[in-house]
Amino acid sequence: MTQTTVEILKNYVGGKWVEAKATKTEKVYNPATGEVIAHVPVSTLEDTDYAVQVAAEAFLTWKEVPVPKRARILFKYQQLLVDNHEELARLITLENGKNFTEAYGEVQRGIENVEFAAGAPSLMMGEQLPSIATELESGVYRYPIGVIGGITPFNFPMMVPCWMFPMAIATGNTFVMKPSERTPLLANRLAALLEEAGLPNGVFNIVHGAHDVVNGLLDHKQVAAISFVGSQPVAEYVYKRGTDNLKRVQALAGAKNHAIVLNDANLDNATTQIMNAAFGSAGERCMAASVVAVEDSIADEFIALLTQKANQIEIGNGLDEGVFLGPVIRDQHKERTLNYIEAGENEGAKLVRDGRQDEAAKREGYFVGPTIFDNVTSEMKIWQEEIFAPVLSISRVKDLSEAIKLSNESRFANGACIFTKDGGSVRQFRESIHAGMLGVNIGVPAPMAFFPFSGWKDSFYGDLHANGKDGLQFYTRKKVITTKWV
Ligand code: NAD
Repeated sequence: MTQTTVEILKNYVGGKWVEAKATKTEKVYNPATGEVIAHVPVSTLEDTDYAVQVAAEAFLTWKEVPVPKRARILFKYQQLLVDNHEELARLITLENGKNFTEAYGEVQRGIENVEFAAGAPSLMMGEQLPSIATELESGVYRYPIGVIGGITPFNFPMMVPCWMFPMAIATGNTFVMKPSERTPLLANRLAALLEEAGLPNGVFNIVHGAHDVVNGLLDHKQVAAISFVGSQPVAEYVYKRGTDNLKRVQALAGAKNHAIVLNDANLDNATTQIMNAAFGSAGERCMAASVVAVEDSIADEFIALLTQKANQIEIGNGLDEGVFLGPVIRDQHKERTLNYIEAGENEGAKLVRDGRQDEAAKREGYFVGPTIFDNVTSEMKIWQEEIFAPVLSISRVKDLSEAIKLSNESRFANGACIFTKDGGSVRQFRESIHAGMLGVNIGVPAPMAFFPFSGWKDSFYGDLHANGKDGLQFYTRKKVITTKWV
């Protein structure tokens, strides 16, 4: 297809679809076929500045809209998302590659964020103390902070934006979003549905593009706060530049999640959960299981069962019935994954299952089959770095203490899981592991909307996490009033 037959996406500013001033565009691919499905403008600083100014103007009136009225728009939006659930999921599979069931689940996760944000009237309530001294009282009120910049990754085109804008706008802020340039289509649908729900112009805006837009948001004086989700180096950069410009920043970063399997675990459950957590969404989840520490005494049995399950995985276009494993996002990402597999072999890990040999890995589209390494050590690149693909590393350990010590060597600390039936082991794990989101006998312990998404170490920069009461606090500021009735 040529550029003329494929849509060039527009930005969404002030309730209008506007052409970016950008002279450059990037191709958006269907990763399952390699076909170009759209072109996304690489918007300029000027485009960004325009959107921020529009959002700043809209803030003046939006912040005055009574909170229940704002919430009512979110109720309407929630219904529209429910009505369009299947179409939204198809769009996610088309641009991201994850299978339709996973995409459907992602839409559900996004809807839950909207439902949580629609509780703004209760969530925003302050607190009072009627007597702080004789005839003196105090109370605290919550207010929005202004224009929020949201920068999102490719791997959850719906859920991650929904971690941000529903709560931001419900609490009275206005929003400028820069979606991933690799998955920009869903964002435009989210905007169109917000318009249908009756959101006033300028409250939610989209500027498509890459680092120029990000820098434009980070440097803009009228942007009060930045919510970022993406890879570690970019998260660190965004956090430093944003805070240097005296903004509030929450930057959710990369991960390398560890699972621990003890010898009393239900191995059928452990292998199913870990198979899903490692190879689901093609390993492109910030909560993907990427390292397993398994007790020596059951390691052979665990690996045999896991490999048997991995062999049954159907690989292909996520829209096709029965497909579990879709493509990774781009050709370059596939290339990078193959380099990691080669590095693992060169560093002496034992390749138990080689996803390069799957028939699908030789087809059009960016497929890599499930790949499993045994005898991986913490000196190896495949243990240390986030691969973000269906590649799982297994280390053998003598007991739980060694497993925890090993896991805690990682610079990342998003999620961690334990598989055991023993309460004491669960307690030891909970108290000693360095990670913010823990799972017991489940593989992807991603918190729901009303809990914070709470990575540690190099998996998160900032104070207040996304979602839950953290999200509410991040998007609001307080006034404390002290009154003497005379
Ligand atoms: P990415 O860092 O490449 O991109 C994220 C965003 O940053 C995109 O909008 C992109 O345009 C922008 N960006 C990229 N490079 C930039 C630069 N040099 N300067 C300024 N902006 C830049 O991430 P990705 O590949 O889209 O997403 C995958 C990553 O996101 C993984 O590392 C994953 O672990 C992480 N992630 C983390 C969480 C979490 O909750 N911690 C959730 C989802 C994804």
